[in-house]
Amino acid sequence: MKEHIKHPIFEIIAKAATELNIDAYVIGGFVRDIILNRPSKDIDVVAIGSGIDLAEKVAKLIGQNTKVAVFRNYGTAMLRYQDYEIEFVGARKESYDRGSRKPIVENGTLEDDQNRRDFTINALAISLNSATYGQILDPFGGLADIEKKIIKTPLNPDITYSDDPLRMMRAIRFATQLGFEIEEKSLKAISENRQRIRIVSKERIIDELNKIILAPIPSIGFKHLFNTGLLEIIFPEMQLLHGVEFIGNKGHKDNFYHTIQVLDNICPKTDNLWLRWAAILHDIAKPATKRFEPEHGWTFHGHEDKGAQMVPKIFKNLKLPLDHKMKYVQKLVRLHLRPIALVNEIVSDSAVRRLLFDAGEDIDDLLTLCSADITSKNEEKVKRYLANFELVKQKLKEVEEKDQLRNWQPPITGELIMKTFNLKPCKEVGLIKEAIREAILEGEIANNYDEAYDYMMNKGKELNLI
Ligand code: ATP
Repeated sequence: MKEHIKHPIFEIIAKAATELNIDAYVIGGFVRDIILNRPSKDIDVVAIGSGIDLAEKVAKLIGQNTKVAVFRNYGTAMLRYQDYEIEFVGARKESYDRGSRKPIVENGTLEDDQNRRDFTINALAISLNSATYGQILDPFGGLADIEKKIIKTPLNPDITYSDDPLRMMRAIRFATQLGFEIEEKSLKAISENRQRIRIVSKERIIDELNKIILAPIPSIGFKHLFNTGLLEIIFPEMQLLHGVEFIGNKGHKDNFYHTIQVLDNICPKTDNLWLRWAAILHDIAKPATKRFEPEHGWTFHGHEDKGAQMVPKIFKNLKLPLDHKMKYVQKLVRLHLRPIALVNEIVSDSAVRRLLFDAGEDIDDLLTLCSADITSKNEEKVKRYLANFELVKQKLKEVEEKDQLRNWQPPITGELIMKTFNLKPCKEVGLIKEAIREAILEGEIANNYDEAYDYMMNKGKELNLI
């Protein structure tokens, strides 16, 4: 392991520990990530003694006025060195009370500290003590579990998850981020303890859910959430997407599996969490709008508008931000069928212009969402659709270059309309502005000042303003 802790900071910590006559270890995620070759800048150090004293000693040895942030309530301290963030904590032993995920904490040994860790792969420690410097301490076979790509708890999973139910989300999150399996016993314990997720704050849950969503293949996590019954509790609207109803021999697609497929499809194209959320929510109103029409089969008319309407409440319940990020997701949900509709119709310039106008600067993201939405078991069909979709994209590009509708600003302002016709703010100003916009979108006039000005004058005459 020595080659992995070559950075001078480890020598400094070791020296500080020797001077204080205590033992110290690098522990947890940093060690796991070294072995997985996922370089990390967050180092956790456990001291068999006071973590705060160790941090202060390390800061002194570094010099350069290094500041230590001390969190006395938690018995932890943090400092930054070069681009590392190093957290120090005294080894602890924890015991839990059923009503809360906050443990009763006592000082403990390294072993106690490893016992309180959530997974075997997170319980690995590297010694910083002179006699054993660089040796790895792996009491629960974490190294072998990394090799086998499996998430396991060090102790009885039933107790581990019940003590701190956030660990259920963490297990699923690590499985998704790392592409690991979750041990069968653990999955069973998660299912059995699922109701205990209710004692975890929504903020902590959404943090984990967002990490799942940002993983390379988020469907892994959503399948676990669904199969263990957690999804129904933390995000019931998504659970409702699951299932296929039949009338006669006519069934519809399972919208849960479709949605997570769309989410996976979009991942190689974007790391934007909110675009990924738009993929999750694009069909969220399908259950609420589902109808069976004997001549057409299953329909979901209006699910895009209804879905957009549902977004604020979902964001609020999940404690997601209610600002422009929510508005962006709402907009993409509302517009998600529009580019696809252009595939099926003879594309008129005005339909294309309208889409460019409505999507504004989010047009590229909308197209990314739409192409991810093309899923079918029939590969030929997907290929054909994607090819047609390329034509639509081409058309959008041409019209955009010609008409420049992205971030469209009206060529004639309300001010100018008022000045020209000597009006105070009134209904007519709005009417004229809207008429100009419509004329541009319909292609009756070009998107420029002169043509818009003439149009305004004609409209003014029509309205007897001059
Ligand atoms: P990441 O940085 O990707 O979140 P990490 O493993 O470093 O991964 P942290 O939340 O920083 O995650 O936790 C650091 C370490 O603390 C973990 O590796 C684990 O040993 C321990 N840990 C964190 N949360 C818990 C928990 N809820 N129960 C038990 N141990 C935990």
